[in-house]
Amino acid sequence: TQACLSAIDAAGALNAFVHKTPEIALEQARAADARLAAGDAPAMCGLPVGIKDLFCTKGVPSQAASAILEGFKPEYESTVTSKLFDAGSVMLGKLNMDEFAMGSSNETSVYGNAVNPWRRGNDDTALTPGGSSGGSASAVAADLCLAATGTDTGGSIRQPCAFTGTVGIKPTYGRCSRWGIVAFASSLDQAGPMTKTVRDAAIMLEAMAGHDPKDSTSADLAVPNFEAMLTGDIKGKKIGIPKEYRLDGTPDEIVKLWDDGTAMLKDAGAEIVDISLPHTKYALPAYYVIAPAEASSNLARYDGVRYGHRTTLAAGDGITEMYEKTRAEGFGHEVQRRVMVGTYVLSAGFYDAYYNRARRVRALIKKDFDDVFAAGVDAILTPATPSAAFGLGEMNDEDPVKMYLNDVFTVTVNLAGLPGISVPTGVDAQGLPLGLQLIGRPWEEGDLLNTAYALE
Ligand code: GLN
Repeated sequence: TQACLSAIDAAGALNAFVHKTPEIALEQARAADARLAAGDAPAMCGLPVGIKDLFCTKGVPSQAASAILEGFKPEYESTVTSKLFDAGSVMLGKLNMDEFAMGSSNETSVYGNAVNPWRRGNDDTALTPGGSSGGSASAVAADLCLAATGTDTGGSIRQPCAFTGTVGIKPTYGRCSRWGIVAFASSLDQAGPMTKTVRDAAIMLEAMAGHDPKDSTSADLAVPNFEAMLTGDIKGKKIGIPKEYRLDGTPDEIVKLWDDGTAMLKDAGAEIVDISLPHTKYALPAYYVIAPAEASSNLARYDGVRYGHRTTLAAGDGITEMYEKTRAEGFGHEVQRRVMVGTYVLSAGFYDAYYNRARRVRALIKKDFDDVFAAGVDAILTPATPSAAFGLGEMNDEDPVKMYLNDVFTVTVNLAGLPGISVPTGVDAQGLPLGLQLIGRPWEEGDLLNTAYALE
């Protein structure tokens, strides 16, 4: 714990930790020592981790990297962090992220962006660690913590992991409780571990997962011992390669990474099959209707009354001005854009044309996956991202769709509620890490982790 705390102090330039909790960490570390001495050694005992700022942590600033939650210190602990603490984890602090988890580069954070510890060859250009869980990815990659929590609504665990050479799994929707996690798009949000290895991800996921009566969408299913399922034996497993993920313009090195990963699984005894997920091309537009719609509803609670920031009222201001000014001051550009898009697609005249249509498309996307799994496919292999980490400031805020295109391979998994894992499997010509994604059957994270283990 002390080594991590020193590493965090020395790596301030990465801007990965936005709030450090050394007192809590040392107290938890001492408690972990006592548990170990008493012969009680839970899976995460004494392991120092970082927590994404989206998780409510009792008495510790939890701002979702937004100005509107300035000064917010929850009175309660999220279920996932409680479970991690019960399993002996040590919290080093809160990690940077895109504001309200909206973004793919960590650049929408009120704290300024986290920085990727990797560089392109000898070029010193600072790169994004990805987003929204960019601080988590940067901290794990730079050895500031042993692991971190992330959340994934449309790729926010998997894309940053691919950009930083780390492992991240978005579990099946409902595997981890969402209670105490600041809501972005409730039907898509899931928490998951971001780690250095597949084995670490298996251990940490088991500690985070489980039924929670406080989240009605959390599944009442036993959590398997995921680590015990890592045999590396994938003989006879059927791995699907979806042709719709072969997008025009995908860089050669991503195509090669995908081909190499396919060959590796084949060498390990898997059967490779070509598959079709015909509605894939509608996933990104459907996601960028559904996610903002849910966000506009979830973010209605930030009204200057209940949490965080409240504007300074001028003479004559009424409650409407209070709401308007508070929200104009407290929300950044991207969040405002999402609230406007979401409000528009949910409005009486457009609801059927946009929101309901997107929901129908979502059902078709889920059916594509159901059909492939029903035909015997065990897991699907795709690239995790369409490129390696890009430079900070390289994506123009004027053209948000360019940034949204980063999520082209990841959002399908959230729309279908499936587990997906990003595994680092190679580097590009400049030495930057690249990742592949494996998508599994619902509730079969153990199997998925084992396939990832064979690929690692
Ligand atoms: N980049 C996506 C978005 O901006 C995904 C975010 C996430 O998974 N939290 O919505």
